[in-house]
Amino acid sequence: MEISKRVKSIAPSLTLAISARANELKAQGKSIISFSVGEPDFNTPEYIIKSAHKALDEGKTKYTASSGMPVLKKAIVDKLKNENGIEYQPSQIVVSNGAKHSIFNALFCLLNDGDEVIIPAPYWLTYPESVKVCGGVCVYLPTDERSNYKITPEQLKNAITSKTKCLIFNSPSNPTGTVYSEEEIRAIAKVVEETGIYVLSDEIYEKLVYCGEKHFSIAAVNDYMREHTIVINGMSKAFAMTGWRIGYLAGPQELIKAIDSFQSHATSNACSISQCASITALNECGSEMDAMVNEFDERRKLIINEVRKIDGLSCNEPNGAFYVMVNVSKLFGKSINGKVLKGSQDIATELLEFGVAVVPGLAFGVDDYIRLSYATSKENIIEGVARINKFVNSLN
Ligand code: PLP
Repeated sequence: MEISKRVKSIAPSLTLAISARANELKAQGKSIISFSVGEPDFNTPEYIIKSAHKALDEGKTKYTASSGMPVLKKAIVDKLKNENGIEYQPSQIVVSNGAKHSIFNALFCLLNDGDEVIIPAPYWLTYPESVKVCGGVCVYLPTDERSNYKITPEQLKNAITSKTKCLIFNSPSNPTGTVYSEEEIRAIAKVVEETGIYVLSDEIYEKLVYCGEKHFSIAAVNDYMREHTIVINGMSKAFAMTGWRIGYLAGPQELIKAIDSFQSHATSNACSISQCASITALNECGSEMDAMVNEFDERRKLIINEVRKIDGLSCNEPNGAFYVMVNVSKLFGKSINGKVLKGSQDIATELLEFGVAVVPGLAFGVDDYIRLSYATSKENIIEGVARINKFVNSLN
């Protein structure tokens, strides 16, 4: 069978082999501490779960408007106004099956074949594959720990060509945890305004910020930026609702109309019960979320502290999300059981034998690092990093 060229362009997941081996080892009874998860390890707060039960009891089990229930769109409009300072009409919102779906919708409706999309690296691994499937061409902007993984306005300006359609901007970032300041965002917006490109601003981790850091949306800079930005957000990370699959986007009217039409043919509405639960989540905001952020903050400090004790590894202090990038490049060239470590994938593979699952930086476009997620207990963090230490000490 001939698979479409578009889909053939998607790279196989780099983490697949590692998860397969992790499962194999677990099946053999081996203890594996996972630093590879991309979701909060907390349960969805009780008040949200109760509202879903209520929605079922009330028979909210039918199709809704394809782009989302009007009450949910109103809750999103209010959230964007009150928390982010951006004014939208409900007709500028589309609710989808998770932020990942929103990103795909936006790129599919925005890109023509050959359009260039600028992606700062390290990047969330779904961005390049979504861009490619939608006919776009990825242009990567490299960053590293010296710049705290931030792009500069000059770097952005130099990458823009007549074919550039948009910049994918992700603050707080997965995988680096980097949070851009308002001032830095305004400087980037200035380049966007001068050059007429669009911004796809993925703000899914906005609530997970630490050290007094404040999330600022690039769409809040001014009216021009609101009209040239597609804001992506959702319920997964902020409300520990990954399985409920509710994401949304807000943007310029014309594009939203196209996305609404596209979604109406592709998937129709996101789950009606999840939409009802999201209305409650957004309108009632319980104290559970503050407790979750405080716990993440404590784990963040713990993991940085533990990693920095290991000779040969280094990491920056991330101020957002729940990830730490650890520089492992000093281990390259060393060997274990006669095998020479050549890159992050070799390290991730060998770490599994020591009972730790991590994601190799190569998956995010940078081979010098591994990504550790601290969406796991403090006990696991201490034990997991101790295993990493044991691994490093056993290298020749
Ligand atoms: N954006 C980033 C940067 C993410 O890390 C993720 C999930 O890992 C998503 C979007 C997708 O979130 P959702 O669960 O809403 O699809």
